[in-house]
Amino acid sequence: MRVSSRPFGPSKLPVAWIGQGTWKMENDDRKRALVALRRGFELGATHVDTAEMYGRGDVEKIVGEAIAGRREQVFLVSKVLPENASYDGTLRACERSLAALRTDHLDGYLLHWRGRHPLEETFRAFEKLVEQGKIRSYGVSNFGVDDLDEALAIVGAGRIACNQVLYHLEERTIEHEVIPWCERHDVAVVAYSPFGAGSFPSPRRGGGRVLAEIAAARGASPYQVALRFLARRPVVFVIPKASSVAHVEDNVAADGVVLDAAEIARLAEAFPLGRRRRGVATL
Ligand code: NAP
Repeated sequence: MRVSSRPFGPSKLPVAWIGQGTWKMENDDRKRALVALRRGFELGATHVDTAEMYGRGDVEKIVGEAIAGRREQVFLVSKVLPENASYDGTLRACERSLAALRTDHLDGYLLHWRGRHPLEETFRAFEKLVEQGKIRSYGVSNFGVDDLDEALAIVGAGRIACNQVLYHLEERTIEHEVIPWCERHDVAVVAYSPFGAGSFPSPRRGGGRVLAEIAAARGASPYQVALRFLARRPVVFVIPKASSVAHVEDNVAADGVVLDAAEIARLAEAFPLGRRRRGVATL
């Protein structure tokens, strides 16, 4: 059981398609969280997502401890808060994140969502950080296609590594426009809250029943089937958050689960796509 990799964004760097989220990890038992994260790394879930926002920097410290001694195996991503995303603010925020994470570089650095600072400034800072070797790539989060068009016009093709967006069985908005846009422009789609941030479909009702049936037929857990369904297109990566070894092992084992076209069609019908909307859905 080991997570396989896919080409990530324009660099085509191989990155584990199942990663690990860390939002609210400051509330978890620290030792248990560390053991779970490290177990995930051992099993190849090496894409770890964090942010300066999480626990106001405390989560980056936990992640820093988890990656100690295995930094080069990990694809480490953090995010700058929009209020800090001026040119100087981004450079300073990155230094704080590097210190908290006890590393000299990030593999990806994202703008958490759009705020009042002009995108030009944030991207200029990202480019400076690339030049300095402090980040290997940069990207965005919570960007709809209008934002993506604007970003692309500023930085040009081949610069935006990923767009991290809300995507789970009951929230498939990005399938209308965002995923096709990212496929066209070689931008990885990183699905956050792939289990609905803990509000996972009940096996007793509606789509959840179909999900449970398919999972049982495959000898898989419904969570594994959900990850497989979401990442059925190669541009998509998932970053579920799990605070126990059992959950991490369950998620990683999604790598061995196969869904056929009929099962994918049943799931797509059981969890309808919903109407097209402007922008992206957020939590
Ligand atoms: P999520 O991954 O959708 O769901 C987490 C919940 O699922 C937790 O309650 C967890 O329980 C449970 N869980 C995980 N694996 C399970 C399994 N195999 N079986 C049963 N339950 C399982 O929630 P999320 O934390 O909102 O999203 C994931 C990550 O995306 C975040 O941690 C963060 O890194 C990122 N994110 C980014 C943004 C953004 O704006 N860019 C926004 C939200 C999230 P346990 O904790 O008990 O394991």
